[in-house]
Amino acid sequence: MWQSIHRRQFLLSLASAALSIPGIVSAQTARRVVIVGAGAAGLTAAFHLRRAGVEVTVLEAAPGWGGRVARLTGFADFPIDTGAEWIHDDPTILGQILGQENTDLGIETIDYRPQTYQVYSNGNLRPRNLLRIGYSEVKFETTTWYGFFERFVVPDLGDSIVLNAPVTDIEQTSNGVSVRVQDGRRFDADHVLVTVPVSILKSASIRFTPTLPDRIVEGLEGIQFGEGFKVFLKFRERFYPDILIAGPIQNFISDAWDEKTYYDAAFGKPSEDNILGLFTASQDQLSRARLGDDELISDVLAELDEIYDGTASRVFETAHVKNWSRVPYIRGSYSMAIETDQPVDEILAPINGRVHFAGEVLGGNAQATVHGAALSAIQAVDRILNS
Ligand SMILES: Cc1cc2nc3c(=O)[nH]c(=O)nc-3n(C[C@H](O)[C@H](O)[C@H](O)COP(=O)(O)OP(=O)(O)OC[C@H]3O[C@@H](n4cnc5c(N)ncnc54)[C@H](O)[C@@H]3O)c2cc1C
Repeated sequence: MWQSIHRRQFLLSLASAALSIPGIVSAQTARRVVIVGAGAAGLTAAFHLRRAGVEVTVLEAAPGWGGRVARLTGFADFPIDTGAEWIHDDPTILGQILGQENTDLGIETIDYRPQTYQVYSNGNLRPRNLLRIGYSEVKFETTTWYGFFERFVVPDLGDSIVLNAPVTDIEQTSNGVSVRVQDGRRFDADHVLVTVPVSILKSASIRFTPTLPDRIVEGLEGIQFGEGFKVFLKFRERFYPDILIAGPIQNFISDAWDEKTYYDAAFGKPSEDNILGLFTASQDQLSRARLGDDELISDVLAELDEIYDGTASRVFETAHVKNWSRVPYIRGSYSMAIETDQPVDEILAPINGRVHFAGEVLGGNAQATVHGAALSAIQAVDRILNS
């Protein structure tokens, strides 16, 4: 949440690169492109490639598109983002993702400026409302990140998304690439754009032929991918502030990797419900991330009961867990701290002009965000179309 503030500057340059898309000349080798992964990066790439007249197939391992963009409906009187939730930039970024010159899409957003803060540490709960001075962001008012892609991107993709299609092999051939999925189907193309999370690349569950160059294998070792989960708790009464920091305050106010924040998920929404969210993206929450959903809810309620003298359990109605660490083709939150001096765009530079990469890890200063993933995809499309 907080870290995003530091990402804004970068977007100006990346976005202007993105806006070069309409001018691309199509003296290209790309008649056909296979995209691996239907998250923000994969969907955005497919959108722009199809607009440029390229035949696209998006192979997605999961039963649905979206990746770390996901929506929960029916739990509250507003749709909940169970993955990405904040727009970590000016809302005009939404139009920029679509490559539109008129970036006003008519989407209503919230100026997210929490007013009440509490910090719980060493057994003491204290207000820290001065934090409101330094922190503001943007959220969707009535829609979600999933709703954005559902409305503006996916309808343009026709039947190009193939679900339940985990890619197992990517082979470079004499005139392109051949991509194989688990059930044996092969998809041949001029280029492949790989947008799977870093966790999947690191797991080596996709076999590359020839094998990935050392710069990638060794470079990936220096890129971390943390644990990640969200819990949404519904209460009969509201007893919590806009933001509750349960643990070291540094985790909220610095670029710290270990982020664990409770927040009023209904803040600014047209809602009557009391929904408290818990956002966790960190290296050191492994033990919690390994808990089953019911155990995790009990653990979280116990923590809130300790802070609020048992009130949480007394007014608790129900809860929903989205444990990204346990999602088979995601396995965590996002890439963050980089223990390497080598820029990620050098580590994951295209291989032989045929195998390309995009995704949040390539978002530069907007790493670990939806728009960073989307804009990295636009850059990859730019490269493919100009190759
Ligand atoms: C809890 C949480 C909160 C977040 N909050 C925010 C936020 O508020 N704002 C924000 O901007 N960002 C946020 N993010 C980050 C944001 O969600 C991601 O940066 C972004 O969605 C990543 O998009 P992507 O396309 O790079 O990857 P993904 O969304 O992970 O897409 C990759 C896709 O590849 C698929 N895949 C994996 N392996 C294979 C395979 N072998 N074959 C085929 N498909 C495969 C996956 O199933 C997935 O659909 C959050 C992330 C988490 C986890």
